[in-house]
Amino acid sequence: MSTKEQTYIMVKPDGVQRGLVGEIIARFEKRGFKLVAMKLVHATTEHLEKHYADLKGKPFFPGLIKYMASGPVVAMVWEGLDAVKTGRVMLGATNPLASAPGTIRGDYALAVGRNICHGSDAVESAQKEIALWFPEGLVQYNNTMEGWVF
Ligand code: ADP
Ligand code: MG
Repeated sequence: MSTKEQTYIMVKPDGVQRGLVGEIIARFEKRGFKLVAMKLVHATTEHLEKHYADLKGKPFFPGLIKYMASGPVVAMVWEGLDAVKTGRVMLGATNPLASAPGTIRGDYALAVGRNICHGSDAVESAQKEIALWFPEGLVQYNNTMEGWVF
């Protein structure tokens, strides 16, 4: 059964530098997800080490942190049916060499070390990542036209 979820999606520094922010946002909007938080952040290495704590010890970890700290990222929370799983499908496989065309990585990336976007891999990690990146909380609003006066 489908459930309403929130997922943490991030445009990584290479995605920002390459001008892909609008394209990535557009895909989530057009798919039908609701944007409930967004900001441009130049994260510290300490913050990024918390975000990627599960990968500490991997040989690529130091390079990953350096890459992620090389420029600002766009941090976002998207809400909707099966947002976590569907968000991952929209991003494509971690290694762009294996990402299907039509996915964000499959359309715009070539290297696993520069794969332009992040998406939470489970509801539990989404909750942790949302709390880490948005300690101030999310934005509450109704995105239907209900109640509008024309
Ligand atoms: P995902 O981002 O798809 O959840 P992981 O959580 O496994 O993938 O890895 C986090 C990030 O670390 C990847 O998106 C990628 O930027 C980087 N990464 C993963 N594996 C490698 C690797 N073998 N070499 C370099 N960077 C890697
Ligand atoms: Mg991951």
